[in-house]
Amino acid sequence: RAKDGHEKEFLQAVHEVVEAVIPFIAENDKYNNLMILERMVEPERVIMFRVPWMDDKGRIQVNRGFRVQFNSAIGPYKGGLRFHPTVNLSILKFLGFEQTFKNSLTTLPMGGAKGGADFDPKGKSDNEVMKFCQSFMTELQRHVGANTDVPAGDIGVGGREIGYLFGQYKRLSNEFVGVLTGKAMSWGGSLIRPEATGYGVVYFTKQMLEEKDGSQLKGKIVGISGSGNVAQYACEKAIELGAKIITMSDSQGYVVDPSGIDTDKLEYVMDLKNKRRGRISEYAEKYSEATYHEGQRPWGETMDIAFPCATQNEIDEEEAEALVANGCICVAEGANMPSTLEAIHVFQKAKILFAPGKASNAGGVATSGLEMSQNSQRYAWSREEVDDKLKDIMAAIHDECVAFGKDGDHVDYVKGANIAGFVKVADAMMDQGVV
Ligand code: NDP
Repeated sequence: RAKDGHEKEFLQAVHEVVEAVIPFIAENDKYNNLMILERMVEPERVIMFRVPWMDDKGRIQVNRGFRVQFNSAIGPYKGGLRFHPTVNLSILKFLGFEQTFKNSLTTLPMGGAKGGADFDPKGKSDNEVMKFCQSFMTELQRHVGANTDVPAGDIGVGGREIGYLFGQYKRLSNEFVGVLTGKAMSWGGSLIRPEATGYGVVYFTKQMLEEKDGSQLKGKIVGISGSGNVAQYACEKAIELGAKIITMSDSQGYVVDPSGIDTDKLEYVMDLKNKRRGRISEYAEKYSEATYHEGQRPWGETMDIAFPCATQNEIDEEEAEALVANGCICVAEGANMPSTLEAIHVFQKAKILFAPGKASNAGGVATSGLEMSQNSQRYAWSREEVDDKLKDIMAAIHDECVAFGKDGDHVDYVKGANIAGFVKVADAMMDQGVV
């Protein structure tokens, strides 16, 4: 793909998928025509736009906004918005491509998309974040809609940002509709949506352990990276199931707490990250049993299970080898593409349990799908109802991975997730003709 040669993250995501899908196509003639894979790697539409806004000092700032509408074969476009200074077209194409397969796995009717801007919410006042969100939505509203494209949060886009974006959409369209997910409960949100991605990672891990040898999370040592939305709720559910969490991190370093991050300490992290918007290094100042490692990632620590929940390419080949050498038996990705291709190959060679993000972190978008259903019904389900549905969906995704990835007594979840995700989208595209 010479024309995408400079888009390294996108090429990496495509590479991971085609490694599994090309051998499958070779054995299944049905998919060997109509340029199905070639069409799938081309986004249906990319929108790129100027986002001008005024900061608190009265200066005009300009950012670049994007929406990559990747594939609508099985439903309206669906996927998060990321606000981070590293955002570029390659990253959003990789995320939109991954999202297409992930959404297919959820069993719900959602196409794939991703968007965002190179805006850095860190250090900005609430007023500046609101101004930015309003300007961003002033353009985005032309391209989204409850039956067209339904964005959600991602890195840098949480409840506050979704609120500002929704308010501006409503003002411009004069419609109160489910155009975004991740909304607050009092205005159309779903219970369990904030928890869903992290909880889903843990539910999926539970399934993998049970499939392998019937073992449980109880008593397992778990290392988590990140301390944002996904990391916090993966931590919460893993604590509830009896695991001992020893690490969390942010973009500046990680903390290791050999005595374990318990519910009280997690509450401190949530307050630190969500309300005070502080640094994870403060954890080690508060709890003397913990140590902080500036500029490093936690994968050199000894752990049974790793949940990378920060960002892409945060486990490289060397770190993967260190995890395996230290006895890690399971890696379940909470983030999107946190393991490099070389790291994935290390896990596959060692035959440890490895869940790619498109399977293990699909609980977030699945619950967004449930939020869309509730919005359409103008009704809200109870916490238990949504959590039960989330558990069922994670179990269904696990079963799809096993169906396509089982080889003897080992399950290759990368192969299983990619082929299962591919088959549903490819079948829909073939049914709909060359479009
Ligand atoms: P948040 O913004 O809530 O948290 C992100 C965390 O990752 C923070 O701890 C942040 O540190 C850290 N981080 C961000 N960028 C980097 C970097 N370049 N290097 C190291 N650490 C970094 O985001 P989410 O928790 O929502 O998302 C985390 C991952 O999960 C992303 O890959 C996202 O795409 C994926 N995901 C999220 C879903 C969701 O429902 N939220 C659904 C499915 C996947 P700091 O505090 O310093 O910024």
